[in-house]
Amino acid sequence: MVTKHLNVTTENIETAAQILQEGGLVAFPTETVYGLGANAFDAIAVGKVYAAKGRPSDNPMIVHIAEKEDLQKLTPMITPLMDLLMEHFWPGPLTMVVNKAPGIPDVTTGGLDTVGVRLPSNQTARDLIRKSTCPIAAPSANVSGRPSPTKAKHVVEDLDGRIDAILMGEDCQVGIESTVVDVSGDNVVLLRPGIITQQELQQAVRGLGKKVEMDPALFINRPRDVSKGQLLEVETEDFKPKAPGMKYKHYAPKAEMIIISGEMGKVKAEIEKLQSENELNGKKVGVIIFAETELQRAAHDFFAKLRELDGQGVDLILAGALDDSDGIGFAVMNRMMKSAGYNVIKL
Ligand code: AMP
Ligand code: MG
Repeated sequence: MVTKHLNVTTENIETAAQILQEGGLVAFPTETVYGLGANAFDAIAVGKVYAAKGRPSDNPMIVHIAEKEDLQKLTPMITPLMDLLMEHFWPGPLTMVVNKAPGIPDVTTGGLDTVGVRLPSNQTARDLIRKSTCPIAAPSANVSGRPSPTKAKHVVEDLDGRIDAILMGEDCQVGIESTVVDVSGDNVVLLRPGIITQQELQQAVRGLGKKVEMDPALFINRPRDVSKGQLLEVETEDFKPKAPGMKYKHYAPKAEMIIISGEMGKVKAEIEKLQSENELNGKKVGVIIFAETELQRAAHDFFAKLRELDGQGVDLILAGALDDSDGIGFAVMNRMMKSAGYNVIKL
């Protein structure tokens, strides 16, 4: 299949919308990461998304809409809690998991009776969804397991020849995927951390007397302490994440990756030491250290950095841990831990 590379023009957005209406696959920019879209109500089209990505079929898609009113097509009842969250955070990087309307095919929701819905703020994304006149199921536009795509060229690397078209838009502003919250029950449960933090959500829903709880699975990091060349598996109680996608190996660079955590000065010294030791042994080493105070920048750069280091053919990536007591730091560390296969040196 020849994948059309479309610059963002009104005409090309119309072409892309037509492809979606006809059951094709189009990758497009959003403010979080690039998405790979299909008509959410077309089971065959959605099936093609799983195939193009190599995505496990029990991992549900997020359904993207262009207007708040479109939520009514996807869920039987809009509660005051949903209304409030929409008011505060849409358009934007928040996905709400809600009870699903009967017409949504099972393949779109990985067989669940809930559906994740998001109204993106990116103008190209909204224009495309509006013109296609259907809700768009769109996971991240990467091959499953690879770092999420934050630039059009990342989508080309992973999916060229496997999908109908790519809208070659701007780099993504946020750089990590949306915050996912389950609002199908009484309280809000945070299933996947993102740039919209627990604290912000809590602030927003306080008026309704609601709590924002964390899915316990978010705290299972299965760290392996990498010391003296030995991996020590730390046993932890197992929880099944409520967002099925959170259980898979994710975001992995081709290189081996180790996170070094502790006080920043010591972390930098340890990374320098490990770098020179490994280089002496003939390894090509890449380093990721973000400024402690620039967590939004870390979110913005993280996936792109992994792909850049892979492109340089490094054998080993050494990454400094971020402060995860901050909500954005927590969201980036959630990805970083998965990328590193939970390999950590704690200083
Ligand atoms: P991605 O599209 O790659 O950003 O992945 C979407 C994420 O949202 C995955 O972690 C899914 O498991 C999660 N998700 C989507 N729909 C639901 C749902 N109905 N219930 C729980 N998690 C969901
Ligand atoms: Mg993904």
